Amino acid sequence: MDTFLTFLRGAPLWLLALLALAENTAILLGTVGIGGWLARRFGDRPVVGSDAVPPVDATQVMLAASTVFLNSLVTFLGLLLWRSGSIRIRVDAGVAATLLDFLLLVFVMDVCMYVLHRVAHFPPFFRMIHRTHHNYDSPRPLTLFVLNPLEALSFGLLWLALLCCYDATWLGMSLYLAFNVLFGLVGHVGVEPLPDSWKRLPLLRYVSTSSFHAGHHRDEGYNFGFYTLIWDRMFGALPRTLCE
Ligand SMILES: [Zn+2]
Ligand SMILES: [Zn+2]
Repeated sequence: MDTFLTFLRGAPLWLLALLALAENTAILLGTVGIGGWLARRFGDRPVVGSDAVPPVDATQVMLAASTVFLNSLVTFLGLLLWRSGSIRIRVDAGVAATLLDFLLLVFVMDVCMYVLHRVAHFPPFFRMIHRTHHNYDSPRPLTLFVLNPLEALSFGLLWLALLCCYDATWLGMSLYLAFNVLFGLVGHVGVEPLPDSWKRLPLLRYVSTSSFHAGHHRDEGYNFGFYTLIWDRMFGALPRTLCE
């Protein structure tokens, strides 16, 4: 790991930019590829009823491409902040410290993104920024990236702001980023791979599922959470069926 970080610290800026773009393009392709496989594998368990998901149009492709570009820009900016010392990364943490770090990043980002999402539903912000994502009430894996550019940037900048305030471990941060993509994929895959019994399991029933986020696309008044149902439960934003 030290060798890789030393390489990143000394690499020319054009190479950093290219790596950031390659990483984010790979995330998009991986998400769409794995999501497509899951959608076929669990095609008999659609989360939005039996109506067919409309085909991908040019607008969705353009918005997804813009999100990949902006996420790459955020990655590049993050690397520059790290090289300048504004972001510091711990590399020598043990297993327990790494795990704690990962859980802390999940918790803090879950709270912050929940607040950001609730604000995005205030009518002026919704009309200006968040409606773009809600134009697609039958989510598919690509919908994860179909965002207004301002919304894509706001999530990225929130992440960088957190890293500027908190010295994360390299592995905890990497695990969180993978976890974030996984939950984004799960929320937009369009099918429910988890069994119905999931909702009755202790603790796990507070974890967001595919049906949960699809429910938000169908009814904008509920299910604002990203990774957990905790904040929706606390602020009464769960539909009655999920409160039982
Ligand atoms: Zn969504
Ligand atoms: Zn929303």
